[in-house]
Amino acid sequence: MKEHKQYCTGCSHKESINKNISRCPKCGEPMEVELIKEGKINYSTNKGQTILERYADFFPYLDISREDSLGEGFTPLTKLQNLASDLGLKGLYLKNESQNPTWSFKDRGTLLGILHAEKLGYKKIGTVSTGNMAPSVAAYASKFNLKSYIFVKETIAEEKLNPILIYNPKLFKVKGDYGSLYYKTLELGEEKDIYFINSDVPLRVEGSKTIAFEICEQLNFNIPDYVIVPSSAGGNIRGIEKGFREFKEAGIIDKIPKIICAQSSGCSPIDKAFNENKDKIERFGNPNTIAHAIENPLPPSGNQVIRMLKRNGGFTVSVEDKEIIEAQKNLANNGLFLQPASCVPLAALKKLRKEDKIEEDAKVVLIGTGGGLKYTSVFEKYDFRYNEINLEDIKTI
Ligand SMILES: *Cc1c(COP(=O)(O)O)cnc(C)c1O
Ligand SMILES: [Zn+2]
Repeated sequence: MKEHKQYCTGCSHKESINKNISRCPKCGEPMEVELIKEGKINYSTNKGQTILERYADFFPYLDISREDSLGEGFTPLTKLQNLASDLGLKGLYLKNESQNPTWSFKDRGTLLGILHAEKLGYKKIGTVSTGNMAPSVAAYASKFNLKSYIFVKETIAEEKLNPILIYNPKLFKVKGDYGSLYYKTLELGEEKDIYFINSDVPLRVEGSKTIAFEICEQLNFNIPDYVIVPSSAGGNIRGIEKGFREFKEAGIIDKIPKIICAQSSGCSPIDKAFNENKDKIERFGNPNTIAHAIENPLPPSGNQVIRMLKRNGGFTVSVEDKEIIEAQKNLANNGLFLQPASCVPLAALKKLRKEDKIEEDAKVVLIGTGGGLKYTSVFEKYDFRYNEINLEDIKTI
């Protein structure tokens, strides 16, 4: 069997895939699994098929079994007809990642990370997170009978702790610079044999490929012009782009959409560097946004996202909190309740249409990364009304 490689996205340094390395030992940039250039979709009429069985050809370096799944992926691609005609678009779709086992796309990458960790013989996994990654890793660790070590910011909202603790991980609130924690845990992992499935590790990026694969199938291989991805660390957007590229290499699709990196103006280090035509991102001072899931001031994949966008022909955009809330209302008016970070793509699209950076009649897919019920504190931004009435009077409404 062919030995697969991972390579550095910065300097092309190569390593075997059978190693747990997330950053290049030479230049520190993120590692990435080599492009898989051949493969077919494993069509099945069996409703029990998992995403990894269906796309197994694109994960040739893993042993895949049906039991290793909590039912991640196969999420809906919902057509947003009203919004499409309001915005003058030919097609507009939302990939609804809230329909994953722990209500965000993170489950796709967590599964891949765990399969890799198991293959390499690890018994312990971990992550650094303030949001959706923590419950995802804790949940999958329970499913796979592994010990999990979750490190969170000292200032994490109390309401976010119980939805992680329910899965019984070892949870640490860390005092000190949160930005350094990502790198510190990689050192800790080496010392204590813990496989850290952090935000943009190679196998997490691999998991996000399946979002692109599903979109291709759901659009019957009529590839959209643009895919808008709310980005923080940059792992998900890299994976989605890689997924389209692999399907193109394999001859399954004939073009690749332009990928748009959408951020919140309250924390937009990638957008800033891209607009200033820099190839290195800088730490974003005092991040402050309602879109907490995309609030990383120093994205570990930031430089690679910039390189990837340049190759792909894509670009970046950022939007204000009030535009994000407006987009959340728009989606709710179409029956979809997503968390603020996941409404950023729609806010970005509205802005890009206004500025004519996306042309009329384009076909656009928004990545709705996670569910609305995870961030109920957003309700403070709303002014809801309801009525009280006596039972005898209900016919008077
Ligand atoms: C993690 C996350 C993101 C950002 O993904 P990155 O891979 O860090 O760029 C966006 N939205 C939600 C809901 C998330 O949980
Ligand atoms: Zn390197």
